[in-house]
Amino acid sequence: MTKKIIYLDYAATTPMDPSVFKAMEQYFTYNFYNPSASYLAAKRVKKELDGVRAGVARHLGAKLPEIIFIAGATEANNLALQGVMKQFPDGEILISAVEHDSVRTPAWLFDCHEIPVTKQGIAEPLAVEKFISDNTVLVSVGLVNNETGTIQPLKEISSILGKVRAERSKKGNNRPIYLHTDAAQAGCYLSLNASRLGVDMMSINGGKIYGPKQSGALFVKTGVRLSPIIAGGGQEWGMRAGTENVPAIFGLAAALEKAQSLRTAESKRLTGLRELFIEKVTEALPNTQINGSKKHSAPHIVSATFQGRDNERLMMELDEAGIQCATGSACHAGTGTPSHVLAAMGLPDKASRSTLRFSFGRHTNENDIAAAIRELKRILSR
Ligand code: PLP
Repeated sequence: MTKKIIYLDYAATTPMDPSVFKAMEQYFTYNFYNPSASYLAAKRVKKELDGVRAGVARHLGAKLPEIIFIAGATEANNLALQGVMKQFPDGEILISAVEHDSVRTPAWLFDCHEIPVTKQGIAEPLAVEKFISDNTVLVSVGLVNNETGTIQPLKEISSILGKVRAERSKKGNNRPIYLHTDAAQAGCYLSLNASRLGVDMMSINGGKIYGPKQSGALFVKTGVRLSPIIAGGGQEWGMRAGTENVPAIFGLAAALEKAQSLRTAESKRLTGLRELFIEKVTEALPNTQINGSKKHSAPHIVSATFQGRDNERLMMELDEAGIQCATGSACHAGTGTPSHVLAAMGLPDKASRSTLRFSFGRHTNENDIAAAIRELKRILSR
C-alpha cells in the first residue's frame, strides 16, 4: 500500500485545478495563435484575451489598460519596483522588514529603507509615516506575509500616503508617492479590489491560486509613472515585451475567477482548520509558540516554533511520515539562513531555526490536521 501524503505547503504552491487546466488546453494545441498576428484566427485569440483581461480587471477593481500580464509575482514585483525607480532614479523606496525576497532584492538596488514591524509582524501605519521622506516615491508592503500569514493594514497605510501627497502639494513638492502591494498570498482569501485597498500597484500570481506557475499580473493604476524592464515588442501596453504566454493568461484568469468565487467559503473553512491546528498543537506540545498576529491573519498559514528542535530535521522526519511542510519561505529552503521575517519580529536565530510553516488549502481537511499533530507529537516525544 502506498503511504498517504498530506500536503501542508499550499503557501509554496497549489496543485492546478482541473478546470483551469481545461481552460488552458486549447491555447497549447489547436488555438495556438500569436495574438499580435493579423489573420482572423489570431485576432479571435486577441479578442478572447481581452475578454479574460476584463475578468481579471473586474476582480482587481481595475480598467483594462491597468492590467499587465506577466510571468509570476517575482517579475511583477520587479517591474513595479524597478519600473518606478527607473522613472525616479534619485528617489527613495520604503519596504516593510518582512517583504518577500522578490521585493527585497530589487528594492535594495536603490536607496531603500525598511519599516520595522511589531512582534506580530505588522507594519504599523505610524511607523510607515515616520520613515517617509520628501524623496520617497514608492512604499511596498505585502498584503499577506508568506511565512506567518499576517495581513498588513494597507488601507491605513494608504491614508498616510494620501496625507503625504496633500502636504507635498502644499509645499510645491511634485514628487509622487505610490503604494505597491505584493498580494501573491492573498488571492484565495481576501478581496483584491485595488481601489478599496488604496494601492497604486498590486502583484498577483497564478501558482498560488490553483493556476499555472509563472503566470501573474501587475495592476498599475492609471497615471503611475512606470518604465518597462524588459525591452522588445510593444506587448502588454509596452510594459512587458514578448509574445504573450496565452495559455498561462487563460489559466490565471480561470484560477482567479474560481479562487475569488470560493473566497468567502474557503476562508471560513480554513479559519476553522487553522484554529483547530493551533488548539491541537499547543495542547499536544505545550512548548509550541505560534508566530504572527492572532487577529490579522490569513486563514491558510501557521508559523510554529518547536523550541530546541532543528526545523530542517523535523521537516525531514515529517516528510518521511508523509507530512509535507516547510521550514519557512520555499525560497530560503536549504540556504541555512534564518528567516529575515521572524528576525524582524524579534525571534532569536535559535527560535527561527526551530520554526516550521504549515499551510493549508482546498484539499486539507480535519483528518489531515489530526494526522499532522499525531506525527509531530510522535516525532517530538522521541
Ligand atoms: N511574493 C510572495 C509573498 C510569495 O509568497 C511568493 C512565492 O513564494 C512570491 C512573491 C513569488 O511568486 P512567483 O513564484 O510567482 O514568482
